[in-house]
Amino acid sequence: MIHGSPTPLPAGGRNATSVAFGLVCDSGTLSVLDQALRAAHPQGARHEAAPLADAALGARLARLWAHGLLSRQPHPDERLRYAYRPTRRGESLRPFLVALEAWESRWGAGRPDPPLTSFCACRPCGEPTLVCRACEQSTASSHEVRSVIGPSGGGWRSIPPPPPRLRGAPPPLTRYGHFPEAVKVIGDRWSAVLVGAAFLGPGRLEQFQQCLGNPSALSTDRLRALRALGILEREGSSWTLTVKGRALFPALMLLVDWGQRWYEAPEGPALLSVHRSCGQPFAPRLVCGTCGGNPAQQASTTEGSDLSALAAPHRLTAAGAMRN
Ligand SMILES: [Zn+2]
Ligand SMILES: [Zn+2]
Repeated sequence: MIHGSPTPLPAGGRNATSVAFGLVCDSGTLSVLDQALRAAHPQGARHEAAPLADAALGARLARLWAHGLLSRQPHPDERLRYAYRPTRRGESLRPFLVALEAWESRWGAGRPDPPLTSFCACRPCGEPTLVCRACEQSTASSHEVRSVIGPSGGGWRSIPPPPPRLRGAPPPLTRYGHFPEAVKVIGDRWSAVLVGAAFLGPGRLEQFQQCLGNPSALSTDRLRALRALGILEREGSSWTLTVKGRALFPALMLLVDWGQRWYEAPEGPALLSVHRSCGQPFAPRLVCGTCGGNPAQQASTTEGSDLSALAAPHRLTAAGAMRN
């Protein structure tokens, strides 16, 4: 497994956002990632991990291992299990999950206890805020960033393929504990892409909708669900984001950034973003809104994490060979 360097994508194929959304935007996968990062908490805080032995979660662990987001080794105590922990690639999703947690605490079930956010200099920690890496100014709103489709394309190249058939029915939403509202939006790859496309301006979402193929089967239901959740609203003939939907900007921007950091299309990025006020290419960074510290400190991937917290029986990991 290559964990440390970006994965090259084939020319003319699906781009980095397609891969990132396809891999991460799945409710069970988000639950596994959340638990993996909590188990490897940088300050050594003990988090209770839900048992991950059922087939649906075991298959997701194996998939994240196959994609280099988790490493695994035989469980120290139990012969028939693997112990998993995040690699550098997996760890670098921590800011995305912290941003999702911040969204959940404002729009969903409240702040999880204990929070995934790590402690910065101030306590209690301030709101995680998105800033521009070039000028360090807050760019928490999508209005402050101009994004256009990059050289590795939009349209079908940005749309994740159909999800792999993972063994076992997805566990009920109540199992996702930490951000039940967010997984209703980001826990489905195509819903997440539709919300992402809505940030690109009027008409874009409709274009992506066409790329999803049969609209009645795929996108109409999702658009209706997103409207019921208060994420999108209909304005004349096009869909626009509500305030609640716009508040997903930091999380989605961090996910796009993660995808473009770890998956490289030969043509270049999938999305080009410029910070309007400083004019520099926009690269997002999450900081504590009060002290400027890092609310998503990465855990060391070589020591300190509790290897026994995440385990799945060996027999489930044959699913690791599954297609994307
Ligand atoms: Zn800037
Ligand atoms: Zn702080």
